[in-house]
Amino acid sequence: MGELRIQNLTKVFNDDTGQIVAVDDFSLNTEDGEFVVFVGPSGCGKSTTLRCIAGLETVTEGRIFLDNEDITTQPPTGRDIAMVFQNYALYPHMTAGENMAFGLKMSTNMPRAEIEQQVNETATMMGIEELLDKRPGELSGGQQQRVALGRAIVREPEVFLMDEPLSNLDAKLRTQMRTELQNLQHELDITTIYVTHDQTEAMTMGDRIVILDGGELQQVGTPLKCYHEPANQFVAGFIGSPSMNFFSMSYENSVLQHDAFRYELSQSVRQNLGTLTGDVVLGIRPEAIERADNGGERTVVAPVSVVEPMGDVTHVYFDVDDETYTMSQEGDLVTEVGSQMELRFPEEKIHLFDATTGDAIKTGSVSTRVETTQPTDGSDTGRP
Ligand code: ATP
Repeated sequence: MGELRIQNLTKVFNDDTGQIVAVDDFSLNTEDGEFVVFVGPSGCGKSTTLRCIAGLETVTEGRIFLDNEDITTQPPTGRDIAMVFQNYALYPHMTAGENMAFGLKMSTNMPRAEIEQQVNETATMMGIEELLDKRPGELSGGQQQRVALGRAIVREPEVFLMDEPLSNLDAKLRTQMRTELQNLQHELDITTIYVTHDQTEAMTMGDRIVILDGGELQQVGTPLKCYHEPANQFVAGFIGSPSMNFFSMSYENSVLQHDAFRYELSQSVRQNLGTLTGDVVLGIRPEAIERADNGGERTVVAPVSVVEPMGDVTHVYFDVDDETYTMSQEGDLVTEVGSQMELRFPEEKIHLFDATTGDAIKTGSVSTRVETTQPTDGSDTGRP
C-alpha cells in the first residue's frame, strides 16, 4: 500500500517581510503505485508541499494520511517515506555502499549481514555494484544520483518523494536517467511524488501531473488531459513547448474580434458560450495552426520574424500587431524570414479563456487512438 491523502494542506512561513503562504489549501489523493509529478514555476510551493509530506516542515493547517493513518505530526523517521534530493545529500566520508546502508541502520533493527545483502541486491538491480566501495567525491553527478536513488530504494518505503532529482545532470544524462527512473518506478510499483519545474519532465514521466502556481493547485490530471483540456490560461501556457499562443479578443454577436482579424464562431460553439460577451483570450497551440491560401475569415496574414529549424519540426515566429507568436510546421518545409504567411486557426483546436479570471471557457479535447499491436513472440492473438 502507499496511498497518500492530503487534505486542505496550508503552509505559512513567517519572516521579516511578514507572512508567506507557500501552500494554500492543497488537497490530493494518490493511488498505490502511482507516479505523480508536481510541476510549476519557481516559488509555486512544490518543494514545501513535498517537505510537509516528508515531515521536514510542520503543517500550518490540514492533514496528511498515509494508508489511512494520520501522519501529519509524525517525525520524518516515523513515516514510511524515503526522499531523494536534488543535491544527492550523500555523506562524503562514507562509501556509496555505506551511504545506502545508513538509512536502514538508523531506521531499523535489521542485522548487519541482512543490510549488506539488501544493499547488494539493490545495487545489482540498479547496475551500480561497482560503485559501492567508492566515496561520493570519486563519482560523477549521474553516479551520485544513482547512489542517492539506491539509498531510497533499499529502504523499500511505501512512498518515494523526489525533489528535482535530475536537475544537476547535463541534458543528455537527464533524459537517460528519466527513462531509468520511470522503469525502476514501474518495476518497484512504489507510489512516487516527483517535483520538477520542467514541464517536459512532468509530461513524460507522470501518470498524473499536479500543476501549482502561487501555492495554489491549478489542475490535476493525466498529461494529455492537462495538455488538451487545460483548466485555465496558466496551465495552458505552462504545459507545452513552445507555449500556447494567446490573443486578446472581444466577443460580441458571435464574433471574436482582434485588432488584426475577426473570427466568427460556429453555432454549436456559440451555444456552449451562452450569454458570454466582453473580453476573452483566444489560445491556440503552435502545432494547431494551419496554413491557408484563400483569405477570408478566421485567417491571419502575418510576417515571419524568426525561423528555428529543429529537424523534425520548424518553429516559425510571426508577428501580429507588434506581438510575436509561434507556429510549428514540418521540418522539411522551408520558410523565409520576412515572408508573409496566411494562417488559419481551426475552430476545434482553439481555446477560449475568461480574460479576467483566466478560467477556460472552451478547450480542445483529448482524443487518443489506441494502437493494436501484434505480439512479438508470434503467439496467436485470437483475432481473425
Ligand atoms: P523552487 O522550484 O524554486 O524550489 P518551489 O516551487 O519548490 O520553488 P518552495 O520552495 O516550496 O517553492 O517555496 C514556496 C514559497 O515559500 C516561496 O515564496 C519561498 O520563498 C517560500 N519559502 C520556502 N521556504 C521558506 C522558509 N523556510 N522561510 C520563508 N519562506 C519560505
